[in-house]
Order: sequence, then structure tokens, then C-alpha cells
Amino acid sequence: MNKDFPLTGIGSVAMHAAGHEHAEYAHLTPIFATSTFTFDSAQQGSDRFAGADKTRIYSRWGNPTFTAAEKTIAALETFGLKNPDGSQLEVKALLHASGQAAMTTLFLGTLKAGDTVLSHYSLYGGTYELMNKVLAATGVHTILIDMHDLNLVEDTIRKNTSIKLLHIETPANPTIQCVDIEAVSGIAKQHGLLVSVDNTFATPYLQQPFRYEVDFVFHSTTKFLNGHGTAIGGVLLGRDLALMNTAMWKWHVLLGGNSNPFDAFLLGQGMKTLELRMDRHCDNAMKVAEYLSAHPAIAHVNYTGLASHPDHAIAARQMKHPGAVMSYELKGGLNAGKKFTDALQMCIRAVSLGTVDTLISHPASMSHLSVPKEEREKYGITDGLIRMSVGIENIHDIISDLEQALAKA
Ligand SMILES: *Cc1c(COP(=O)(O)O)cnc(C)c1O
Repeated sequence: MNKDFPLTGIGSVAMHAAGHEHAEYAHLTPIFATSTFTFDSAQQGSDRFAGADKTRIYSRWGNPTFTAAEKTIAALETFGLKNPDGSQLEVKALLHASGQAAMTTLFLGTLKAGDTVLSHYSLYGGTYELMNKVLAATGVHTILIDMHDLNLVEDTIRKNTSIKLLHIETPANPTIQCVDIEAVSGIAKQHGLLVSVDNTFATPYLQQPFRYEVDFVFHSTTKFLNGHGTAIGGVLLGRDLALMNTAMWKWHVLLGGNSNPFDAFLLGQGMKTLELRMDRHCDNAMKVAEYLSAHPAIAHVNYTGLASHPDHAIAARQMKHPGAVMSYELKGGLNAGKKFTDALQMCIRAVSLGTVDTLISHPASMSHLSVPKEEREKYGITDGLIRMSVGIENIHDIISDLEQALAKA
């Protein structure tokens, strides 16, 4: 594809951003299943190590199949975004083996002993544990607050001069609480902090944090970006190209959390249909939320697409659509939750989210089984709560399955 041909749709960018100039005129990016790359001569080896020759050296440091996926994600996250001088915004992406690996590079690359990371209290469990176990062990502190309160954000930053990074996950896993990216990052920037956003639930199709003064965007690519549940993966994107190419790259390479060619290929394939999938995921989710809201067995539907959700306005402001993950509470409690889950005929019983098929889990009997009831209820994980990642099946089949399962709950 001609690099100067202006693509006007994000769906076209998803398919063509990585380019098609491959060995042997292959249409798709080949799976470069090779750990190392050869040198023609000692001089060529020297040139590559000196950086004069940009050809690969070793796959932990980068591999063409990773690069293809990285280019696509970077293009999606910056689609339509300009620098103040009107030029296209460019960011650098580093593909990792998992979301957790990418998060580790982010935290260890930006924080050192004595520093503090500030975050909203509703966070993915793995991020929370990384902060409390790994970062804590390296002497990095974590402060969690309710970032709906902008005065509290400002106050906390003023009182804690060791805060270096403000990390937000919006929508948050699993509560789908939203944080106002523009407002919160605006405050952080007045105080010279770095800002990172976990954009996993939204994807760049629904939300582009680089629109605001955000330094890093993170994804667990395991979810909607891959879209088919075929591979674990993560990506860290950064606006400061020099920093990404030096310090952050170094941490990434030394920590060893690189991706692998097969998973990177699967991710590259999955992302090509992001727009199409997300449109269908979102349409279906809204219909499911409306159906469940009117159902007599349901006490409450937690979905930012509904005007009843406290973060409805934030989601509407910064997201193209509220997305496809929701939770709802069965009036019948623990027993109803189990019976409903068991009665499902088509929807898949599994944790994770963002796959083409609908995934449903019952946290009280599954992921939060070992968390005491009083503890989990503080986070809204009640006995009858069901979590659902709405898939792209035909809406009639999703609703029929819910209907027959609710009748048995
Ligand atoms: C899944 C997830 C992660 C962790 O990603 P892995 O790919 O499982 O390592 C981080 N943040 C959010 C919001 C997630 O949903």
C-alpha cells in the first residue's frame, strides 16, 4: 500500500497499517518462528549492533511478526490524532507476552524505590496484586483513591510529592467504573506526573486516551484486540518515542516479557476485524442490557450504556460506545446464580472477556469463591452477580439463551 494514501476509516487502518511487503510476496505477515537472525559478515554484525543497520539480531529484542502487530496497534491508537503542529501523532508500541508483562515494563520502567503510583481503587486484580506484591517489594508505594472526586485527586498529588505516575483503568475490570481521562490527566500534568491508561475494555475503536495528555496506553491484547480468545498478550504504547526506544525498550528486553511469533500473528489477524466486531459487540450489549433491565428476575443491571449507571455521563463523553462488558444481579442470590449459569445452552461459562462468543461467569462461585462474602460485597460482588462479555452471535440466540436460563434460575 502507498504510505501516502490517506485511509479515512479505522477499519481500513486495522487491515493495512502493518503493510504488505513480505518475503516471497506473501499476502499476510509470515510467522517468523526464529529466535535469531544471521549476519553475512563480521562487519554486518557490527553495523547491526551499532544501530547503523536496522535488521534484526535476536527475537527477544524484536521480530518482524511482533512489529506488524505493534504497527497496527500504534496506528489504531493514533488514528485521526494530530500533534499541535498538525502532523500525524506517532507513538511506539512494545508487544509483550501478556498484559501483566506489559504492565511490569510500564511500572518498573517509570518508577523506582521511594516513588509512588496513584490509581483509582477499582482495578483489575492482576494490576492490584502487581502493585501490592511486586512494586511494594521494590520499594514503590501505591495510593488508591476514588478518582471520581477530582478535588481528592488534586489534594492527594499535592500532599504526596513522591507520586510519579498516575495510572487509570477505564472502564475498570470487572466493575466497569469509568474515570474521566481528560480531567484526571489534566490535573496530573499540572503537577508534572506521567499518566498511563489501561484501555483494554474500550479498545482504540471506542476510546483513544492519546487524545488527552496521556503518556502511555496499555492493553491486555488477550481481550477485544485479539478478539478470538486464541492468545495471551499485552502491549505498552508510549508518546515519547525517544523514551520508548531507549529506557522502556531496555526494561522490556531485560525483563524478558517478549511475545512470540505465533501469538503475534494471531493478534494481527484478530485486529483486522476490530471495527466490525466492536460494532456488533456493542449493538448486542445494548440490546442485552435493555432486555435484562426489564426482566423481573433481575435486581439490577450494571452497564454504563444505561442512564441509571453513575458513570454513564463520563462514558458517553470519552467513549464512542460504552462497550460490551456488563454485570447484573439475580434477585435469587447465590443459588439462582449457580442455576442460571448451569442452565446456559449457548453462552460459554468462562472468565476473560472480549472474545467473539459470549462469555459468562458467576464471580461468587468462581473467581471470588475464596474472598469472604463481606469483603467481596464491598466491591459490589454480590451472591447473585453475573458477569457477561457479550459476543457477536445473533442477538436473538443470546437473548433466547438468557431467557431460558433465567426461567430455570
Ligand atoms: C486481562 C486484563 C489485564 C491482564 O492482562 P493478561 O493478558 O491477562 O496478562 C490487565 N488489565 C485489564 C483491564 C484486563 O482485563
